[in-house]
Amino acid sequence: MCARVAGEGDLFVGDLAVSRAYLNADQFFPGWLFVVLGRHATELYELSAPERHALVDDVSRAARALAEVFRPVKMNYELLGNQVAHIHWHLIPRLSSDPDPRWPVWRVAHEPQTLAPGALRERIEAIRRALEGG
Ligand SMILES: [Zn+2]
Repeated sequence: MCARVAGEGDLFVGDLAVSRAYLNADQFFPGWLFVVLGRHATELYELSAPERHALVDDVSRAARALAEVFRPVKMNYELLGNQVAHIHWHLIPRLSSDPDPRWPVWRVAHEPQTLAPGALRERIEAIRRALEGG
């Protein structure tokens, strides 16, 4: 994840105030987005209050943009870091078509669904437009 913060590959969505947004390559849950802190830290309590507040504002702004695009029943916010110890939020719109809506996504076994390049660009553009609007 630290390496990804520096990069703007195919999944890069945009820069927020103190973080960067990337689409998850696996779009089985449509809209699954990462909001990654722009500098290295692993725990919220390591951040100054203004930085932490700015990060939560970034997360909220990204969530609103996702809600506009995907119209979820519920937004999920997850900050784990067990596998990649760099602050990164998972924002996961849970849609009415969700196969297991009452539980976290992690327990839904599935084949990863990557988008074809055109569909990927379209999805990222839609989220960018919603971010600009918010
Ligand atoms: Zn890091």
